[in-house]
Amino acid sequence: MGAAEVAGAESLADYAAATAGCTRCRLAEGRTQVVFGSGDPNADLLFVGEAPGFHEDKQGVPFVGQAGKLLERLLAGIGLDRSRVYIANVLMCRPPGNRDPQPDEIEACEAHLFRKLELIEPRVVATLGNFATKLLSGKPHGITRVHGTPQDATVGSRRVTLYPLFHPAAALYTPRMLQTLEEDFARIPALLERDAPAPAPVITLPVAAPAAPAPAPPAPVEQLGLF
Ligand code: URA
Repeated sequence: MGAAEVAGAESLADYAAATAGCTRCRLAEGRTQVVFGSGDPNADLLFVGEAPGFHEDKQGVPFVGQAGKLLERLLAGIGLDRSRVYIANVLMCRPPGNRDPQPDEIEACEAHLFRKLELIEPRVVATLGNFATKLLSGKPHGITRVHGTPQDATVGSRRVTLYPLFHPAAALYTPRMLQTLEEDFARIPALLERDAPAPAPVITLPVAAPAAPAPAPPAPVEQLGLF
């Protein structure tokens, strides 16, 4: 996959095809397949997790394991499902043994994430956990400090609302974190509404004045006195 191929990809599907054989980092050697992302290619809401795990690597779809089930439950709680959002990860390939992403792997994969963003054009980007939050905010602040607080951010070449959230995998076995994640999730609909494009202006046309009644035909002049 050369740079020209990647830059030339006009649609998300073209881009997925162009990156399916990516060898930009060592993770290409151990993966079953690239996990590009899934969902609505025109979604207003993009979730960015960390990296594929065992099940994602096998199925080629992000968040299909336990953390994915929780993500689906959280989405259902705000009236959404995964077909109406887009879900991707910082890394498209599984790190061996699910270890943390390494800085050079993140650097190799970040252009792919930024290009996805340009093609999907989401308005809200919800980052799940530390790796996605630090990468996309460009700041070192950890998720415990910044979760639930929307930030204006420029990602690649796009202005978006960045919304950091705890990673569902971290919340799976920690009830207090799960409660916080649910509370943070509950604010997503308002964020989507806040950033919705302004509705087209309503143009009020002046109400046409009722047509004036046609003037009555002149009364025949009684030519009194002529006869
Ligand atoms: N955790 C992630 O960050 N991404 C996945 O796709 C699955 C689990």
